[in-house]
Amino acid sequence: MAREPIYEIDDPRFAHLIVGSARLEELYSGCRWAEGPVWFSDANQLVWSDIPNQRMLRWTPEGGVSVFRQPSSFANGHTRDRQGRLISCEHGTRRVTRTEIDGSIRTLAESFDGRRLNSPNDVVVRSDGTIWFTDPTYGILSDYEGYRAEPEQEGRNVYRLDPETGELAAVATDFNQPNGLAFSPDETILYVADSGASHDDALPRHIRAFDVVDGRLANGRVFATIDKGIPDGIRTDTAGNLWSSAGDGVHCFAPDGVRIGKIFVPQTVANLTFGGPRRNRLFIAATTSLYAIYVTATGAQVP
Ligand code: MG
Repeated sequence: MAREPIYEIDDPRFAHLIVGSARLEELYSGCRWAEGPVWFSDANQLVWSDIPNQRMLRWTPEGGVSVFRQPSSFANGHTRDRQGRLISCEHGTRRVTRTEIDGSIRTLAESFDGRRLNSPNDVVVRSDGTIWFTDPTYGILSDYEGYRAEPEQEGRNVYRLDPETGELAAVATDFNQPNGLAFSPDETILYVADSGASHDDALPRHIRAFDVVDGRLANGRVFATIDKGIPDGIRTDTAGNLWSSAGDGVHCFAPDGVRIGKIFVPQTVANLTFGGPRRNRLFIAATTSLYAIYVTATGAQVP
């Protein structure tokens, strides 16, 4: 019997990033909307969000899946800072938090210009410690992934937060729905997904690239467009390739913006991250399930 292909190779460069014999493994199923995977190399564990179920889950190779935090304030995207502390976007409280080493949760940002944020969605930390996050309205559109509310912000912005001073700056204000974000390995480029097409086909389904200059964004341009579904979470590898969530799986783009291949996933993909001891295992949050697949690429994000 013919096997369903799990890869689409659009460019020979992609053939060097995948393991031909590797298979997509389903590690867990039972989420309502899986999001925000973050790898803890020191604990050999993956943590991710199940947004509508108000919980965060943990997977380890030895122990399988357990509850990491519940209730989770409808947490969505996560990352870790340079000290290894968990940084989280919460829809329910409309804030960005840091989980301290003692387990307490501290608010880092909840308002801009004296008005509440919409619903922080995804977050990355730069090597200088600054925290960059997106603030679309998904978490306040209904009571399913947060609490329904009218936006107080005029825009759906991308922000840079200095956690030392608390200074919050809007670094991009012209997105429809900014979503996943990732730095190039040398941090000279910030990629940001615009998933506006989630609710209106005429709106963007692309990833923009910006030059990062003195903590600001410049020279914004469309880097890539997703041909199936929308871009949500994105990551880069150490060679500068960009791996994006999409409706039919994971799409991989070379640094020149050419889509070089796809990994097909049976459910809509919301987010992904590289993990495992060698950061060569792609963990994929896809609707009800968490999947994983080994690749030859190495994730760029730290720690
Ligand atoms: Mg997202």
